[in-house]
Amino acid sequence: MRLVILKFGGTSLGNSKKIKHVSKIIKNYYQKKNKVIVVASAMSGMTNELIKKSKEISKNFKRSEYDVLVSSGEQISCSLIAGALSELGLNARSWISWQLPILTDENFSSSQIQSINTKEIFSFIKKGGIPVITGFQGITRKKRITTLGRGGSDASAIALAKFFNADSCVIYTDVEGIYTTDPNSNVKAKKIDKISYEEMLEMSSLGAKVMQPISIQDAMLNDIRINVKSTFSKKSGTEIANENEIVKKKVITGISYTKNEAKITLVGVTDKPGVAASIFKPLAQNNINVDMVVQNISDDGKKTDITFTIKKEDLSYALRLIKRNKKIFYKKIIQDDKVSKVSIVGVGMIAAPGVTYRMFQALASKKINIMVISTSEIKISVLIDQRNIKKAIKVLHKEFNLG
Ligand code: ADP
Ligand code: ASP
Ligand code: MG
Repeated sequence: MRLVILKFGGTSLGNSKKIKHVSKIIKNYYQKKNKVIVVASAMSGMTNELIKKSKEISKNFKRSEYDVLVSSGEQISCSLIAGALSELGLNARSWISWQLPILTDENFSSSQIQSINTKEIFSFIKKGGIPVITGFQGITRKKRITTLGRGGSDASAIALAKFFNADSCVIYTDVEGIYTTDPNSNVKAKKIDKISYEEMLEMSSLGAKVMQPISIQDAMLNDIRINVKSTFSKKSGTEIANENEIVKKKVITGISYTKNEAKITLVGVTDKPGVAASIFKPLAQNNINVDMVVQNISDDGKKTDITFTIKKEDLSYALRLIKRNKKIFYKKIIQDDKVSKVSIVGVGMIAAPGVTYRMFQALASKKINIMVISTSEIKISVLIDQRNIKKAIKVLHKEFNLG
């Protein structure tokens, strides 16, 4: 008998009707002689509502209590799914992560799963039961509730596949799989049949919300095949697998974008060794992640302008840290939070020269100005004005024949 992990995201669990529909999908697997473990996220919108409530109480809501609060949505959806499965005549039971337990580290709101006790669940499955386990959350050794970061029930699904040694892991969502770009913002987006872990990792780290990056990293390290498909259609989805299994390789596989970037430029910084380190040290010490960086040197080589990007929510704190920093001298600071990072991703670019030129040329043809650039072996990211996102994605989609 095969053991399958079925993960349902919030978009699949929006209301009672959808939950009943999901329970029929689960029943179908069970009737086809699979052993099934279900993992569920909170009903759509629920986690956002809970976060909003914490903000109404305090801007600095205690992190450990924040996790107790925002993890509660998953308990509701799991009991509803287990209830719907019972209604269909199946032996189902919900498990909250501490009941297994699913052990995590102590990094509240961005913790990672360290181990899962499989004993109780295995014996329940053996007796023909269907366990429904809360995604997104865990518990520390000191018995504190933790959460895995937004979109974290994907990571729960992969961790369950790993610790239960499952034969298959299916991620059910509201789109038919992984697309060349977000199908909800570009009608020409095309479904990808198979994508490599590396490409998926880049695409999700660069903004494709459909899979959480940590989950892909974990799947890649443990060789866990993932199938992403729609709860609302019978069409086959996307396989996330090893690169060597992908026969048809394109130069570019997909395009991602983020809208939560902010840019800071320090104009007229004294150009001497150690200056960049002095700028970035207090940011690093305060957990502000610097993403893209560019430095321009003046003609006389004495002054430089340093531009870098950070997350929008870190902007005001970063500005305060810079202004407080007595170790650096500059003429002025410019800030901009109406920027967006657009990235093209593809393992095919390793062997194809001229991709950078094609990207820049395509953007130039639409008069889109590039502010900052960053690259890796399989991706090129550019920072542009937020107003140009749609135009940029459209022209790049066409340039790299993704439609
Ligand atoms: P779930 O509730 O199932 O976890 P999410 O909202 O987290 O669903 O992720 C699904 C959404 O991801 C889709 O509705 C889609 O708008 C978005 N998305 C962004 N980029 C992509 C992409 N390249 N392919 C598919 N979906 C994408
Ligand atoms: N409910 C959580 C969130 O909204 C986890 C998830 O959806 O995967 O982020
Ligand atoms: Mg999600």
